[in-house]
Order: sequence, then structure tokens, then C-alpha cells
Amino acid sequence: MTVQLEAFRKGLFDSGLLIPMGVDGLYGRSETFESIGTAFDALVSRTGAADKAEVLRFPPALSKQVFETTGYMASFPQLAGTIHSFAGNDKAHAALMRTIEAKEDWTTTQKATQVVAVPAACYPLYGPLGARGPLKPEGALFDVFSWCFRHEPSLEPTRMQFFRMREFVRAGSPEQVQQFREAWVERGKKMMESLQLPLNVDVANDPFFGRAGRMLVTNQREQALKFELLVPVIEGTSPTACLSFNYHQDKFGLSFKIRKSDGETAHTACVGFGIERVILALLATHGYDPQKWPDRVRSALWP
Ligand code: ATP
Ligand code: ZN
Repeated sequence: MTVQLEAFRKGLFDSGLLIPMGVDGLYGRSETFESIGTAFDALVSRTGAADKAEVLRFPPALSKQVFETTGYMASFPQLAGTIHSFAGNDKAHAALMRTIEAKEDWTTTQKATQVVAVPAACYPLYGPLGARGPLKPEGALFDVFSWCFRHEPSLEPTRMQFFRMREFVRAGSPEQVQQFREAWVERGKKMMESLQLPLNVDVANDPFFGRAGRMLVTNQREQALKFELLVPVIEGTSPTACLSFNYHQDKFGLSFKIRKSDGETAHTACVGFGIERVILALLATHGYDPQKWPDRVRSALWP
């Protein structure tokens, strides 16, 4: 069951589940909204518990140098968020204040800091992983979680500028990481079916920028490097990607010198859970009051 966009926004704002903050894609969250997210995050933990992933947490930022190494600007310059700050003297400060008072653009003199916003939860992991030295023969598995920034302002609540992503990330041989991804497609489906969400899994692509990006899209789709678990949420729009299953081949292994035990470049894959998107899919499907959701859905989330 999908909801009409305007009705969805009104329902979320009127119920206080989301609090508008004056910019499309930037919202406050209510206690109820958060309780659903916490429960879903715990469901993800239970679903993956047997694998004993190593838990790591990073701030939602990368150093500029690491950001450059990820190659993000080549593929998604339109989404990146760089963090800038004032770096002038007293005179420059006075000029800045005059510009602000005149309601003119005061941001043009801001200088880049060494910090860039994280676009995906797994990005801060690869540098430290490469620095650890060769992987064990069985490879490695991590559990990461982060607020992420993407400059994609939208009226659709499912497309935010700041949102949270939980991920499991596998590094190892091509066989090891592909097996991990295949297993998670099945687990992810079962997990989301337990929430009684209508879904399907399909090959997908990232929003690669520009003319060169078109070739990358074709390549990504032909090699089935990305799958998404999609749930219909907003009427008249394509279903919403709530989970994604990404095979990076040796991209991050090469950039961050992640090596297998035999010294060869490691492959990596990640499964991402969009916390806000899953909450919104649940609200759109089962209504704005979790107390009234079907018993089976409630017990899957709050066992
Ligand atoms: P889309 O194709 O809709 O732009 P995506 O599949 O490219 O999303 P990923 O880069 O795979 O997104 O990010 C991993 C997960 O993060 C997605 O499965 C989704 O649940 C969530 N996500 C991505 N972008 C947003 C956003 N703008 N707002 C909220 N959640 C998002
Ligand atoms: Zn990832």
C-alpha cells in the first residue's frame, strides 16, 4: 500500500513523527519515530548475530585526504558535502558580519576544513582496515553505523539529506564476499517479510554523475554489482530502496591497500540498511501508530 506524497508529509508532520526544519530533507524525529528505528536496528543485530561481526563506530566525517582516496568526487560530486569554516582576521570578520546583516551570501569566503561529511557508513572503515595489514585467511566482517550526508534535497521524506545507515561490510576473496552478499539478500528478504512489507529485490545502480557516469551505470548493472530491496512507499514514484547489497570488487581494496592473507588485493562488499527508509516504509504500510500495527510485525520488532 502506497501513500500519496502530500498526504504522507502532512501525516508525518501533523503526528509529530517528523519535524520540518526549513530545508527539504532535514527533519527532527519524535520519540515514536526513534523507537521504531532502535527496534529495527536491534532486529538487524539479531539477524546478523551469528556472524560475530566486529563492531566499529566512526564520526559522520572523513578526512579530506581519505575522501579523495575513495574516489567519491569522480562518481558523485553532486552529492558530496564538504565542511567549511571561517578562517580570517578581525577585519575579515567585520566584513563577514556586514555581509550577513545585509542578507547577502556570506558563505563565499568560507574556507574548506580538513573534514568532509560521510556519504555512506562503510567509507571510514577502509583506511583503518588497510592499515591493519593482511587479512586472516577467513577474511573480515564489520558492523558499522553512521549518520550520512547526501546533497539531494527532496520533498519525498524517503530522500533525506541527513539519514542513518547501518551496514555489515565483508572483506576477503571474491568468493567470500559474494557469498556474504548472496546470504544477506536472502536474510534481508526474510527479515523485511517478517515486518509484512511488500517488497522485491532487483538489480540497481548508483546515481553516477554526468556523461562518463552513464558507462558506469551500464557496467554496474551488467555485472549485477548492486542489488536493492525495494518497498513501494510513495504513490506514483518508483519503489524505495530500503536495503542495498553492494559488491565493490577490488575498488576499495586497491585504493586503501586492503590485502588478503596471500598478499593479493582483497575484494569487499557491504549490505546497507536505511534506518529512516525502513521506518517510513513501516509507517506508510501499517499506519502512523505503531501500537496499532499487526501483532506479528510488533513482535518481530519488539520480541
Ligand atoms: P537511491 O537509489 O534511492 O538513491 P541508493 O540505493 O543509492 O538509494 P545506497 O547508496 O545504496 O542508496 O545507500 C544505502 C542505503 O541508504 C539505501 O539502501 C537506503 O536505504 C539508504 N539511503 C540512501 N540514500 C538515502 C536518502 N537520501 N535518504 C534516506 N535514506 C537513504
Ligand atoms: Zn557500504
